[in-house]
Amino acid sequence: MKGQATDQKHGPRTAPAAAPERFETVIVGGGQAGLAVGYHLAMRGRRFVILDASQRTGDAWRQRWDSLHLFTPARYDGLPGMPFPAAAFSYPTKDQVADYLQAYATRFALPVRNGVRVDRLCRDGDRYALAAGDRRILADHVVVATGAHQKPQIPAFAAELDPNILQLDPNRYRHPSQLPAGGVLVVGAGNSGAEIAFEVSRTHPTWLSGPATGHIPVRTGSRWDQLLTPPFWWFISRVLTVQTPIGRKVRPKALITTAPLERVRPRELAAAGVERVPRTVGVQHGSPVLEDGRVMHVATVLWCTGFRPDFAWIDLPVLGQDGAPVHHRGIVASQPGLYFVGLWFLSAFTSSLLGGVGRDAEHIAEQIAAHQPNAQPTAEVLTAARAHRAPTATAAHRSERYTVRDNL
Ligand SMILES: Cc1cc2nc3c(=O)[nH]c(=O)nc-3n(C[C@H](O)[C@H](O)[C@H](O)COP(=O)(O)OP(=O)(O)OC[C@H]3O[C@@H](n4cnc5c(N)ncnc54)[C@H](O)[C@@H]3O)c2cc1C
Repeated sequence: MKGQATDQKHGPRTAPAAAPERFETVIVGGGQAGLAVGYHLAMRGRRFVILDASQRTGDAWRQRWDSLHLFTPARYDGLPGMPFPAAAFSYPTKDQVADYLQAYATRFALPVRNGVRVDRLCRDGDRYALAAGDRRILADHVVVATGAHQKPQIPAFAAELDPNILQLDPNRYRHPSQLPAGGVLVVGAGNSGAEIAFEVSRTHPTWLSGPATGHIPVRTGSRWDQLLTPPFWWFISRVLTVQTPIGRKVRPKALITTAPLERVRPRELAAAGVERVPRTVGVQHGSPVLEDGRVMHVATVLWCTGFRPDFAWIDLPVLGQDGAPVHHRGIVASQPGLYFVGLWFLSAFTSSLLGGVGRDAEHIAEQIAAHQPNAQPTAEVLTAARAHRAPTATAAHRSERYTVRDNL
């Protein structure tokens, strides 16, 4: 039989399947959420691995559009144990974030395996079994850290658009020169939509479709920003949590409400020539149609209509009616040993942000460590963590030491 070895005694045999690897904990996803859990597990001396589909740590950020800068200032962009290396009220570029994540993984010697996409997670007795291609891994604990922004939410009628219209979403948009000549309809007027519309309006006639979301009255980087952001951050990270009555009240609304514009203002959009138009509601003869009946003859439609996570690879009954995992602060009661991190408002308004994920990561690591409390971190990890307690070269670092939580 072609491609199959033959054993004289037992007849044809297939190559033996590789024995599964075993870990106490597998973290699926090596973005900021997975790395933050890794840091806290390393601090507790746990044995774990981080499996990440991308080729390089930080790729989720590298692959976003070229001109993207963070909406949160560097002061609130640090992960546990390592401040973001920039002035407190500067707004890093997406590539600086990617490089920071890579440096973070290196500094704490986090065991990240890149290029490994987990395609199935199921139970195997009292353990979890993960499959990634032909690899099999068994684990007592699994932390799902695959991100909240994996799949763009695009309306079904998009499939009826003329195939000559280029359709993109923020995960595939890079820069205006990628777009063909002709009009651009940006659907979705949140921060991504507004910033992309502002950018493409320099080279293309641009319409921004969807209700206005309001804007934050304070200019990013201004004195007011520096004055008001700290109490605001305290409020959204300490008060708007699942542990306060106000946080629990706000959470369902926060999950579906589009955030107000942070950087680009409605007046600036208008001055740049971006025309605001109502919602896009369907398709007529291959072209998008607005709520007011207008048919838009454009060359490009950019769907900035939000994202959702992708849990299709999880073969366990953990999703609720709304398709979101059922958990409390990331812990799945129905599946002991399974955790989620990095989701929108997982425990607080800031849970999916760089500066907010660390607390959830620590909570999850504490649960895992409780199963074997006497483990010790390696000397390598402790040295790296201590290095960040010493004064650093830049003023930015100096101010950060007092603002970013260090859990050592
Ligand atoms: C446009 C935009 C701007 C943002 N701006 C800010 C900001 O200014 N400040 C801020 O704090 N936050 C911001 N965020 C929110 C958040 O910080 C980012 O989305 C961040 O990337 C989330 O990190 P994460 O680790 O949860 O997920 P991701 O960064 O998406 O990382 C998930 C990782 O999991 C991997 N993965 C996915 N599926 C699998 C699988 N099955 N097997 C193995 N690996 C897998 C992916 O390859 C990826 O590397 C922004 C988000 C977007 C979309």
